Amino acid sequence: MRTYTPLTYDCNDNCISCPVPRKKERKNPSLKEIYIEIDKIKKYSEHIELNGGEPTLNKDLLKILNYIKNKNFKETSLLSNCQTFYNENNVKKILKVPNLKIITTLYGHNKNLQDSITRNPGSFERKIKGIENLIKYKIPIELRILLQKKNYNEINEIIKFTNQYKLNKIIILNPKLTACALKNIEYVGEKISIISKKLSYAIKLSNNKNIELYHFPHCILPHELWQYSKGQTSIKGEICFIEECNGCSKQKVCSGIWCSYLNKFGKDEFKKI
Ligand code: SF4
Repeated sequence: MRTYTPLTYDCNDNCISCPVPRKKERKNPSLKEIYIEIDKIKKYSEHIELNGGEPTLNKDLLKILNYIKNKNFKETSLLSNCQTFYNENNVKKILKVPNLKIITTLYGHNKNLQDSITRNPGSFERKIKGIENLIKYKIPIELRILLQKKNYNEINEIIKFTNQYKLNKIIILNPKLTACALKNIEYVGEKISIISKKLSYAIKLSNNKNIELYHFPHCILPHELWQYSKGQTSIKGEICFIEECNGCSKQKVCSGIWCSYLNKFGKDEFKKI
């Protein structure tokens, strides 16, 4: 069951690898609809994730966070590109939200790489300043490095860049190939068995001890990286297991494969363990 709810489909970035349909293809949820979703999630989860689009663009964000505060979730995650927090005053506004964590995605260690994926000049500078402001006020940050065709060769530099920040967790993942990511497949899509070859050295470079891998099935990972796999992190329907997975000794702890990935790259990479 899903534990996230979008607050808006508006976004101030235009990422080539965005898996969410653009706003013109979807109507933004009303405040009432958002409250209904929050109540629904509270019935079966102590954790809620607010996402989008860019959730901080919802003009009622503070009202929504206040509503959530009264629901006593054990953890509230805000999946944001952090550009709103470029302005320190916006960080101060969320300080009173209990158990709040910011999740943010990084594509590159410099403006050329990051902005070429967000297609939004200045996004790197605003994001990094936003992250620095959040760290200044001790708001926990989970940084997600989304590896795709344009940036996976730069993973070592990206990890070295992150070493200067006190981040609660780093997650390395690959994209769901839907919406923009699918439209831009020639710039986004890469075989995950190729990407995974870059991961061992990159993880060794990190000074963060809290690293996880999402959406890299065990059979395409070097053995020493199995310990980093988070297992399944997406709902059924988005994640698939193929016939070859039957009888695999790692199926219970495996992430599964993005169904959207199988549609594009097929199933030849995956062999039972
Ligand atoms: S064969 Fe299937 S279950 Fe086993 S590791 Fe690969 S993807 Fe996962």
